[in-house]
Amino acid sequence: MIDQRLKSVIRDVPDFPEPGIIFKDITPILKDPGLCEAILDAFEARLQADAIDVIAGIESRGFLFGLMLAQRLGKPFVPVRKQGKLPYHTVAQSYALEYGKATIEIHEDAFIAGTRILVHDDLLATGGTVTATSQLIQKLGGNIAGFAFIISLDFLKGSERLTDYSPNIVSLVG
Ligand code: 5GP
Repeated sequence: MIDQRLKSVIRDVPDFPEPGIIFKDITPILKDPGLCEAILDAFEARLQADAIDVIAGIESRGFLFGLMLAQRLGKPFVPVRKQGKLPYHTVAQSYALEYGKATIEIHEDAFIAGTRILVHDDLLATGGTVTATSQLIQKLGGNIAGFAFIISLDFLKGSERLTDYSPNIVSLVG
């Protein structure tokens, strides 16, 4: 099973990026091309590709499998980036962090209104990042087709915040 294979390689790093946090390190996955293929197979099996027009990946770990998945499904890929990183005209969305706030951006011509967007990130924690991404996509007139994560930290209940945007939530490890 893909979840057992993933659990065996995802590394828990204590006290990163700050004391008390146990960080799920996905970089060991990237060293195993067969496992990367299996992740794409699992996403492809669980997603309804004909209901998706575009894949949006969130900086930076969401770029890794976001682009690979877009290639696999034959769909365009769009990057969602931290403020100040995208070179062309952008639309922005700010959101609250535990301390302070963050802002994400997307190019204003990333897609046309009515486009159905699958949002991808490596990991779902509180859901703050993908909620802000969904609001950003809606500002541009996009429709949220669903969400795809490698890992979901279910005890944080982030998925409860996402059902307002789409009921289609896929995660490979809970
Ligand atoms: P949220 O906004 O859902 O609270 O946090 C999710 C965002 O933070 C994602 O962009 C994800 O990449 C990053 N993140 C938070 N904790 C972890 C972690 O333990 N491992 C990884 N790989 N990413 C994390």
